[in-house]
Amino acid sequence: TKYVYDFAEGNKDLKDLLGGKGANLAEMTNIGLPVPPGFTITTEACRAYLADGEPPDGLRAEIADHLSRLEEGIGRRLGDPADPLLVSVRSGAKFSMPGMMETVLNVGLNDESVHGLAAQSGSERFAWDSYRRLIQMFGKIVLGIEGERFDDALEDKKRARGSDSDLDLTTDDFRTLVDAYKKIVRDATGRDFPQEPAEQMSQAVRAVFDSWNAERAILYRRQERIPADLGTAVNIVAMVFGNLGMDSGTGVAFTRDPASGAQGIYGDYLQNAQGEDVVAGIRNTVPLQQLADIDRKSYDELLDIMATLERHYRDLCDIEFTIERGKLWMLQTRVGKRTAAAAYVIANQLVDEGMIDLDEAVRRVNGAQLAQLMFPRFDTEAKKERIARGMNASPGAAVGRVVFDSYTAVKWSRSGEKVILVRRETNPDDLNGMIAAEGILTSRGGKTSHAAVVARGMGKTCVCGAEELDVDTKGRRLTTRDGLVVEEGDVLSIDGSNGMVYRGEVPVVSSPVVEYFEGRQETAGAEADVLVKAVHRIMTRADEVRCLGVRANADTPEDAARARRFGAQGVGLCRTEHMFLGDRRQHVERLILADTDDERESALSALLPLQRDDFVGIFTAMNGLPVTVRLLDPPLHEFLPDITELSVRVALAEARGDANENDLRLLQAVHKLHEQNPMLGLRGVRLGLVIPGLFTMQVRAIAEAAAQCRAAGGNPHAEIMIPLVGTVQELEIIRAEAEDVLAEVSRESGEQLHCLIGTMIELPRAALTAGQIAGAAEFFSFGTNDLTQTVWGFSRDDVEAAFFSAYLEKGIFGVSPFETLDTDGVGRLVRLATEEGRAARPELKVGVCGEHGGDPDSVHFFHQVGLDYVSCSPFRVPVARLEAGRAAL
Ligand code: PEP
Ligand code: MG
Repeated sequence: TKYVYDFAEGNKDLKDLLGGKGANLAEMTNIGLPVPPGFTITTEACRAYLADGEPPDGLRAEIADHLSRLEEGIGRRLGDPADPLLVSVRSGAKFSMPGMMETVLNVGLNDESVHGLAAQSGSERFAWDSYRRLIQMFGKIVLGIEGERFDDALEDKKRARGSDSDLDLTTDDFRTLVDAYKKIVRDATGRDFPQEPAEQMSQAVRAVFDSWNAERAILYRRQERIPADLGTAVNIVAMVFGNLGMDSGTGVAFTRDPASGAQGIYGDYLQNAQGEDVVAGIRNTVPLQQLADIDRKSYDELLDIMATLERHYRDLCDIEFTIERGKLWMLQTRVGKRTAAAAYVIANQLVDEGMIDLDEAVRRVNGAQLAQLMFPRFDTEAKKERIARGMNASPGAAVGRVVFDSYTAVKWSRSGEKVILVRRETNPDDLNGMIAAEGILTSRGGKTSHAAVVARGMGKTCVCGAEELDVDTKGRRLTTRDGLVVEEGDVLSIDGSNGMVYRGEVPVVSSPVVEYFEGRQETAGAEADVLVKAVHRIMTRADEVRCLGVRANADTPEDAARARRFGAQGVGLCRTEHMFLGDRRQHVERLILADTDDERESALSALLPLQRDDFVGIFTAMNGLPVTVRLLDPPLHEFLPDITELSVRVALAEARGDANENDLRLLQAVHKLHEQNPMLGLRGVRLGLVIPGLFTMQVRAIAEAAAQCRAAGGNPHAEIMIPLVGTVQELEIIRAEAEDVLAEVSRESGEQLHCLIGTMIELPRAALTAGQIAGAAEFFSFGTNDLTQTVWGFSRDDVEAAFFSAYLEKGIFGVSPFETLDTDGVGRLVRLATEEGRAARPELKVGVCGEHGGDPDSVHFFHQVGLDYVSCSPFRVPVARLEAGRAAL
């Protein structure tokens, strides 16, 4: 096996093997951009190392071989005392992972070569600064020494100089810092800092391999659903220096605005600085445009390169670059992360610019982004007390209590508090807190700072670089420029779309994308217009190409109407249980307590007109489109008083001697209906079979409502759905009764009523006998909530709280099967039942109405299986439309 690739040997399609960074460095090398020479150790080597605990055979020799070629090409030897080659060792997995250790710079420096570097560069100060940086990074990353110990030593030096900038430190300061750092290493590890350059390099390589399994990397992967077994590549790159003086520097840039998608030049530049200083937000950067004044030649070349990269990648790219004494070097590029809004806007722009076609644009956005764009925003009319303005790093409106550290963020959010994590700047150790927080606010760092990049990736609201705020992490408070103090626990509202920070809770309003779907356009403004136009174009195309229909789960006329505006092609699940609550509970109670047919019928006939009106409303809202009404599903005890409460009430009444007859009967009934496992008990079709007249009352209400709508000139398409069927016999009995009622109502009303009668498939037995069941069903609708519950034997109401977090942590599954369909297990039954159902009845309509109907990954699966439609909550309808379109491309 070949474990090492020179940059010239790779290309951008080799991300699996070379990681994202390595593949793109290779690509840039091959299209002739100025990349410092180097090579990449493959992810395969990393996987072998992680499996065996030892580098694979031959790796050492291969690295040595590539290193000598690198040395020959440059004409310097690694760590040569007289004229050293220095390298950086950089991790680079297939997917960018800010949770991982990134880089060790200046490998090859030691007590001797530091002099060589001084001579070579003409700067003692620079050489000693570089050496202390090496020990610091190496100590922290490779040797696992707490970073603060080095930071503190550096701070002490600065304080001694009476300055807060490392630019004021002298050669001597750095020389003594090197001694101090070496002592820290010795104290912490019992060994000296390794002087041998090859040893430094191989230790750094191992550390990068090991960092794949660092806790925060594991956490980040879980959050981003990145597979745990990919491993990382390692890039060895010849050093170029941005800290050689004011004619040097380092920067980050985007080819378009990653927040809004607008075209232009976006980036940050920092003069006389090295590597990660910009991303870490250590010193404040200047906008990239200012580079034009600082170094025109490099600036022009950079713009040229950015244009080349965009054309080459046909997408927004982000880049890291360094200028060494007026010479521009590209250190990294990749297709850049962007906000949800920018994803739509950019995809649309690229179509306009002829770089991609519309189908590609549809592929490049996703339902999760669309869902994000449908989040509410702050009410522009509301009174707000603005206390600062930072950068709009990641959009959204977040309200929460202020916390100043990750630990508290996690703790408070576990107990149900919404929190805003406030930090001076974030680093990878803050990941936990960022995940837990509603939003992130920092006082330092630009749009490319750690906080901004990570928040955007997570879709979290973030305002960064709010410099007016003085953040006192230790004192758990922040102070505004006007002297206002905000303590831990106080409420702030932050607007990631414009960078505003407000005191207190600001009310939120709907998004322009929601307004667009609703057919009203209230949010004015160019940015909203551009976004809405992009969404419209992409949604239109998705609708054109998709094979899946999209319906909504709606139980009220209002929900049905909203769903229809959102593009729903009918109601796939109208749950009738909420129609039995409120004032109507008394009728249900009477029904349950009835001793005689008369009592029962009287209760049912009180419910009938109420139900009929419910259905008239929904049929009217969905006029011309199918409405699947599901007959009553939950166990009846859900409509009765709580057993404990009632028992206490009756006991107290009895003690007082005034127990009331009705309560006593009720208590009896509650006891009779009490079940240990109500979810597996008297519910669904079983109710219809056991409670005489219940289902026929509902069917009559549906039929009469349809007749009434028809008579009024409407065009209702009612479908009757029987829940929790396990065997065709159940369905046959209910079906026969329903058909009788339909025929009766047709006769009575003089309207021709044809309603499809079908069933939910939500028990394994139903799926396994789908061929038989299709004999009595004109449609199937998979109830994947119950099907997941019964296939796994997981209680859908309890497990998420009980033990799913442990399961997720142990990697038993990456996501709850109640959220994304378990395709191997539950999905297999869905496929089988669809095939066997259709074999028995070719015109069988098949859909899904569990929560999975609106989940992007699951929608793709349902498309593959060839279902006719998915049905989901109204708000998810646009997401399902888009994903159904993407699945079809
Ligand atoms: C289901 O079980 O998937 C379903 C849609 O029904 P409910 O959620 O009402 O049980
Ligand atoms: Mg169900």
